[in-house]
Amino acid sequence: MQKFMRFPNWKPKAMTLSYDDAVIFDEKLIGIMQKYGLKGTFNVNGGMMSDKFYRRMDETTALKLYKEFRMEVAMHGYGHAFLGGCTGADIIKEYYEDKVKLEETFGEIMRGGAYAFGIYNDEIVNVLKTLGVGYFRTTECSGNFELPADWLRWQPTCRHAAANLFELLDSFLAESPDKSYNAKPRLFYLFGHSYEFEDNDNWERIERFCAKTAQYNDIWHATNAEIYDYVQAYDNLIFSAAGDKVLNNSATDVYLWLNKRKVLARANSVTEIE
Ligand SMILES: [Zn+2]
Repeated sequence: MQKFMRFPNWKPKAMTLSYDDAVIFDEKLIGIMQKYGLKGTFNVNGGMMSDKFYRRMDETTALKLYKEFRMEVAMHGYGHAFLGGCTGADIIKEYYEDKVKLEETFGEIMRGGAYAFGIYNDEIVNVLKTLGVGYFRTTECSGNFELPADWLRWQPTCRHAAANLFELLDSFLAESPDKSYNAKPRLFYLFGHSYEFEDNDNWERIERFCAKTAQYNDIWHATNAEIYDYVQAYDNLIFSAAGDKVLNNSATDVYLWLNKRKVLARANSVTEIE
């Protein structure tokens, strides 16, 4: 059986944003994202949610902002420590304390995050795995629209500051996986810091990016964790040997092309394939 994942409501493409450090300019960024229907994940340092830190949001403001607009809050290290060359204990402390603090503040289980300074190694990845974290973003850009091969070393497509940002966006928007039933889904993953727009006085860059994207309706706009969960649900589908049934044990409906036909594998059900 040939199978190809589609995002919810058969959308062949997805987009997600990832912004770090929970600075005060996230409010303006979220306003723009909201206006055009984009979604994303905000990577917060649990120990730095205070206006004592330069340009950071305090806990109350952060809680209100991210909750109100249903953006995902994710980990970024308790104190934004530079973990290169650090001991195992430092690594454990930095991420354990971050997870505890963010979960207590936001009332949700932390599912992923982004590496502070883009620093990671096998030891750091193992600590995150042990903490039950599913995905973490690096700062190494892929320049493509593939889903990650390794969720704990998730490479974004590009930074918003990339010189070829709009070229990449144009080629993403021009992709039409559904022209052929057997094409892989596509993902555009953008990252950065909202203070860069302020410092470079180029808010129009993200406004243009969002406005252009919003003209297309074949894109699923989701947070990092929503994409992660959805792909896990797809990867965990179980097919009968005869190819006439599919079991979806997850809590989410899964959309796919199977032998040139559309199949909707309902959550927590066995679906008969005609
Ligand atoms: Zn950072």
